[in-house]
Amino acid sequence: MTLAQLSFQKMNLLQAKGIKRTYGSLQVLKGIDLEVKKGEVVAIVGPSGAGKSTFLHILGTLDRPEEGQVFIENINVFTQKDKDLAKFRNEKIGFIFQFHNLLAEFTALENACMPGYIGGMNEKDILSRGKELLDLLGLSHRFDHLPSQLSGGEQQRVAVARALLNKPAIVLADEPSGNLDSHNALDLHQLFFKLRDEFGQTFVIVTHNEELAEMADRRLVMQDGLMLP
Ligand code: ADP
Ligand code: MG
Repeated sequence: MTLAQLSFQKMNLLQAKGIKRTYGSLQVLKGIDLEVKKGEVVAIVGPSGAGKSTFLHILGTLDRPEEGQVFIENINVFTQKDKDLAKFRNEKIGFIFQFHNLLAEFTALENACMPGYIGGMNEKDILSRGKELLDLLGLSHRFDHLPSQLSGGEQQRVAVARALLNKPAIVLADEPSGNLDSHNALDLHQLFFKLRDEFGQTFVIVTHNEELAEMADRRLVMQDGLMLP
């Protein structure tokens, strides 16, 4: 790698190059490139079936591409062994899905703290970080509530706290407001920008919500396995 290439990569928190993914005979991703800088909020829109979720899963190292590379903080992620990759994912990537996937038997605080427990962090640090985040997200009065005792907007904010617990390099969100009414959706979107403004948090967000896509620093369109120019 030349010095010029190296310094170019340093500017990007995430870089995906030539990502291809096939399911059986179906080529879902046909060679996708993406560069994301620290503190950027990038929105990806596009019709259902375009390959957005498949691409986001690959960026999040949940799935491996057949071709192409993903660099996060200059690490060529798929050169890591599965065990190292799992640790990397836990430390570096926060996920927010359409359905919050909170664990029903655990409280809001326990759910928010889950990535810390999985990562083997010190329990005292985990709890103080979890409380700090729930406070920040307006959930200080909800620590001991179960997911079933929270509204949809509150549940999704617990999922945001969980995504942020390990101070990830990047947060990947797949239709995060797809299950919320317009008021709660707007609150959630504003929260993303607050996290970006206050902490420099970087986001890649797949969304059908045009309001969110317009607020983002970049609005990218995926169609038929390709990123439109
Ligand atoms: P989007 O999120 O843009 O709606 P997806 O990435 O979920 O699109 O899916 C893109 C295409 O890949 C669809 O045709 C879908 O049926 C197919 N697909 C996604 N995941 C799998 C899988 N695990 N096995 C087979 N086909 C899949
Ligand atoms: Mg999808």
